[in-house]
Amino acid sequence: MIKPDLLLHPTPGGLYCPLGDFYVDPVRPVDRALITHGHSDHARSGHGHVLATRQTLDIMAIRYGEDFCGTSQSADFGDTTSINGVTVRFHPAGHVLGSAQIEIEAQGTRIVVSGDYKRGADPTCASFEPVPCDVFITEATFGLPVFHHPDPRLEIQKLLTSLQQFPERSHLIGAYALGKAQRVISLIRRGGYEKPIYIHGSMARLCDYYTEQGVELGELRPATTEDKKSGAFKGAVVIGPPSAFNDRWARRFEDPLAIFASGWMMVRQRAKQRGVELPLVISDHCDWPELLDTIREVGPQEVWVTHGREEALVRWCELSSIKARPLHLVGYEDEGD
Ligand SMILES: [Zn+2]
Repeated sequence: MIKPDLLLHPTPGGLYCPLGDFYVDPVRPVDRALITHGHSDHARSGHGHVLATRQTLDIMAIRYGEDFCGTSQSADFGDTTSINGVTVRFHPAGHVLGSAQIEIEAQGTRIVVSGDYKRGADPTCASFEPVPCDVFITEATFGLPVFHHPDPRLEIQKLLTSLQQFPERSHLIGAYALGKAQRVISLIRRGGYEKPIYIHGSMARLCDYYTEQGVELGELRPATTEDKKSGAFKGAVVIGPPSAFNDRWARRFEDPLAIFASGWMMVRQRAKQRGVELPLVISDHCDWPELLDTIREVGPQEVWVTHGREEALVRWCELSSIKARPLHLVGYEDEGD
């Protein structure tokens, strides 16, 4: 066995594997990058070579253009790739479409970089699979005991109830363009809502891609100004990225009801600051109990915590006799919380 640090260690550019000479989710352009998922804080353009799942590569091409890297190679879940003698395998992370954990193994030492992940059911992506390893690298976006995410179906029920109570008002939902928006739409459909859903233009290609990949989103229409004249937005569901609600785009809706779908909506003050009338606590990250359950299930000798509220999780590991350390990685800003 080699020391885990010799297999993978944090650098200012991201997690680096010196034996394989590659980075995982580098935050600056590098020669060789392995990418866990398509959120912009993990998947950046400009790398020489990228290894990722087919769906992550497709999502990067949609977001950055076909020339987002020099060359690329797709990794199927469970398949083995050898990079300079280091064995690499991708496993589902349950975070967004195409999201993966990356298993890295050499000379008897196995490290799993989980990227961003969650354990709750999500019909829009493959479910997280625990992979036994020596070192489990986890995020801690919601790594405090106060964070418990409710059942997302109950959150969506609040939206459906509001649509009945306020049939004249446009229900504007802020949701991140990759993952959260499609999950919210999918949940709304599963809740029995069949009317067209209006989407911001920036989400169209990603929604089309999810549909191509077999995720049922029902009828989606672009939220254009012509619809305002026809009154189509009255009582309609409209989804856009959170940033869109501060700009001109949002002025086309009359008497809008402001909604935001995010794990952060657990924190009332955040909802208030954003002027959110109906907060929906729907997260694509683990809550505190899920983080602990996952660590118990994976059973690593060591846990490294990448970003988020690292200290509480490190402390919990130590109290549970699991060696743990914070990596203090910078540049990961929860694009898809
Ligand atoms: Zn993410």
